[in-house]
Amino acid sequence: MVKVTNPYLELGEKFYSFEKITPLNRPYLVDVNERFANELGLDFSQKEWEEILNGKRLLEGSKPFSMVYAGHQFGYFVPKLGDGRVVNIGKINSYHLQLKGSGVNSYSRSGDGRALFRSSVREYLASEAMFYLGVETTRGVALLGAEHQIYREEWQKAAIVLRASRSWVRFGTFEYFANSKELEALANYVIGESFSFLEGERDRYFLMFMEIVKRSARLVAKWNSIGFVHGVLNSDNCLVDGSTIDYGPFAFLEVYEDFTPNRGDKKRRYSFGRQALIMKYNLNMLAKSLGGLIESKDLVYALLLFDSIYVEEFFRLMKRKLGFLEEMEGDIELIVELLEILKKDKVDYSSFFYNLTYDKELFIEKRWIKKYKERMRMEDITKSKEIMRKTNPRYILRGYILEEAIERGLNGDFSLIKRLKEVVQSPYERDLEFEGLLKEKKWQNIRLSCSS
Ligand code: AMP
Ligand code: MG
Repeated sequence: MVKVTNPYLELGEKFYSFEKITPLNRPYLVDVNERFANELGLDFSQKEWEEILNGKRLLEGSKPFSMVYAGHQFGYFVPKLGDGRVVNIGKINSYHLQLKGSGVNSYSRSGDGRALFRSSVREYLASEAMFYLGVETTRGVALLGAEHQIYREEWQKAAIVLRASRSWVRFGTFEYFANSKELEALANYVIGESFSFLEGERDRYFLMFMEIVKRSARLVAKWNSIGFVHGVLNSDNCLVDGSTIDYGPFAFLEVYEDFTPNRGDKKRRYSFGRQALIMKYNLNMLAKSLGGLIESKDLVYALLLFDSIYVEEFFRLMKRKLGFLEEMEGDIELIVELLEILKKDKVDYSSFFYNLTYDKELFIEKRWIKKYKERMRMEDITKSKEIMRKTNPRYILRGYILEEAIERGLNGDFSLIKRLKEVVQSPYERDLEFEGLLKEKKWQNIRLSCSS
């Protein structure tokens, strides 16, 4: 049996609370992400997986605990949140494992500590899709379904996801410990866990914050370049190590628009087009909580760099999507113009870049296409196409097909969930059999409720 460690516990009892896992009734294993599980060194029988996911069997060394944090939710500070439906079950091979949907614990507030089957499938598949699109993200290891019902506007099936991350420290963790004597210990822990190259540096806290700003700016640039909208970008849903976390009402854009996937987000705070702004807001909230460790002028300096890092990374990524490997004047204008056209003409974002890559017909203004072709004469086309093929996916996790996989899953057929997992693991390669399933569907962005 594998052995896990629990380094977070060394921070002391203010940081966590030991918890129990409450098993789901009548559980069944839906899927194991074999590729990633193997990487972690987790190899169990079906029965063992079921028992581990359902909290009936502990990994050797496991001391289940939940972490405390605070956070700004929709612009309002909540001083105490915490893993209300998550327990940590240990660290293995640089990844900390968590069970999400594990039942009521001391951070559950008025919640039931559960996660819907529907949202668990979404998190499990989305994080895999993101990983294979080259986005920093938490990972899904395995998924447990059950006949167990929970109430969310109506009775629905619950599930538990086993997920993994190199760090689970959120901006909100620092916000919780702002002005406390534990703040420095937390910063040292984070440096050890995520920024070990800074250990021993005299300015390490400042450099840590710089690094968080940098990674966060690049993360949002990546999201925006692939057309991913997170949907609930609260500061407790931002990891300091710059990975994507907590897939709720996210969307991979189909039609290119300033989309807000969360139906409950009436003011459209977390729309696609606002993600960089919101990440900056969250970094400001993080900076405020670091006042005891880092001088104000240094915090401001780091925050002011966000825009330039974001812009540089965003255009770097967009240039790769277009096959622009040479530096040319006017490239930025060409990209901005294209994005305007895609929005105006309501074009399917990922299909456009795929079609461009494979010289298929493009249903946009001929004027832009002419300029693009002109521009491409400056490039080594073989090299450009090679990059474009590795940058523009054939498959993103489209809302309607994900919904179909969930519906079938709710009826006990997990084949499409498994199939989708394989497809998102090779997003750049065509899979003709899979495409048989996609015929005659109208692609559109789907809005969801946040109640997960
Ligand atoms: P989320 O929107 O999933 O990021 O959750 C925001 C906060 O609410 C976190 O502190 C969660 O742990 C908590 N939370 C969300 N859903 C539940 C639930 N069903 N039971 C208990 N706590 C929850
Ligand atoms: Mg969260």
